Amino acid sequence: MAEIKCTVTECEYNKNVKCDAPMIQIERNNTASAASSDQTKCETFKRRA
Ligand code: SF4
Repeated sequence: MAEIKCTVTECEYNKNVKCDAPMIQIERNNTASAASSDQTKCETFKRRA
């Protein structure tokens, strides 16, 4: 898988400002058709305990 840089360091899967999950799921964020990256979201995010 391509390396994924992610600055959401409070996520359980974040390691050294990169995503370490084996797979991530991205979805539209409250819209039927995204027009910009603001309208997408990482569904795999899990708050670090
Ligand atoms: S699961 Fe999503 S939010 Fe969490 S580190 Fe990976 S890309 Fe970032």
